[in-house]
Amino acid sequence: MLHDDQDPLSGAGIDTLAIRAGIHRSAEGEHAEPIYTTSSYVFGSAAEAAARFSGDSPGNVYSRYTNPTVRTFEERIAALEGGEAAVATASGMAAILSTCMALLKAGDHVVCSRDVFGTTSNLFGRYLARFGVAVDFVPLLDRAAWRQALRPETALLFAETPSNPLCEVADLAELSALAREAGALLVVDNCFCTPALQRPLELGADIVVHSATKYLDGQGRCVGGAVVGRREHMQEVLGFLRTCGPTMSPFNAWVFLKGLETLRLRMEAHSRNAQALAEWLQQQPQVERVYYAGLPDHPGHALAARQQRAFGGVLSFQVRGGRDAAWRCIDATRILSLTANLGDAKSTIVHPATTTHGRLTPEQRAAAGIADNLIRVAVGLEDVEDLRADLQRGLQAAG
Ligand SMILES: *Cc1c(COP(=O)(O)O)cnc(C)c1O
Repeated sequence: MLHDDQDPLSGAGIDTLAIRAGIHRSAEGEHAEPIYTTSSYVFGSAAEAAARFSGDSPGNVYSRYTNPTVRTFEERIAALEGGEAAVATASGMAAILSTCMALLKAGDHVVCSRDVFGTTSNLFGRYLARFGVAVDFVPLLDRAAWRQALRPETALLFAETPSNPLCEVADLAELSALAREAGALLVVDNCFCTPALQRPLELGADIVVHSATKYLDGQGRCVGGAVVGRREHMQEVLGFLRTCGPTMSPFNAWVFLKGLETLRLRMEAHSRNAQALAEWLQQQPQVERVYYAGLPDHPGHALAARQQRAFGGVLSFQVRGGRDAAWRCIDATRILSLTANLGDAKSTIVHPATTTHGRLTPEQRAAAGIADNLIRVAVGLEDVEDLRADLQRGLQAAG
């Protein structure tokens, strides 16, 4: 539908798509998207029921696999990412699991960035490995390691950029070319940038996965996810969902639809606040180093400036002193929420070495560059002066 010249949204801008893509009004003519809280659907006749079940007639059968509110979300996120289709899932992890279950089989091999969300590493390393899918983890920016890890049976490359918490930026066009050369699919977790700032499919990725829980919602209300890509792949992912059931609820889909309407405005405001805080942190005597791709001296700055529309809302910094100084800094803040979540209007602060990356061995943490004095801030939408004053309280306590 999106490629049809008759479609008024064909060629529409990102804000228009974020607000209007996927709307199918019912006979009531409602303006806002309704929430269809129904598990099943009735048919006009036995013949129609048979046609729906066989797939000969389009339409809903059961909300484990299709629901009008969820479909609106799917069409909207597909339009925003520039993909042919999308499948909504119960969480971000369900999006990644469904992609793997739909497109991998025993004997396949995966190359995954070492610097992905911790639970993603666990999914590949602990669970998929049990089912005969081999995985190699490589440092996100180590081109030679990606190439060396390839095998004839490599079916999938998985990356997340920018990385958490050090904001390393990978060249998606280059990874796409490598995947094509290997005959593998490139799957990109676009959680940190969202399509408002980065569109991996345009850079050659095959599939985008999302934790909608983060910026797509934007207000920390619901858990959900999405997979976006070519229709043939999404058919497979939907098949897995239909059979195994990690489905998004219609209420959550509705919350995410409301979130998407303000996605670009929010992402730009998150980025603006993060940039201001990163520049300010760099000037503070208690700060050893700041990691944010919006800073000109960040190694990923030029690439991020090319690949992304803005630098996003997550930054991290090292305070002088060790773990204790970092903990004192975190404990002295009074506005920032101490939580590992991100992508929320509320700013959050966390100590990666003892929380999100606490399960790694000290050696693994050192290799990944997660120092004991590192603090991550997911910058929200509060007044930046207040955030600065709060971090100032923290830094004073640290030093
Ligand atoms: C949170 C997160 C996930 C997992 O999403 P859930 O919705 O919590 O299941 C995956 N990838 C990234 C980058 C995340 O931040």
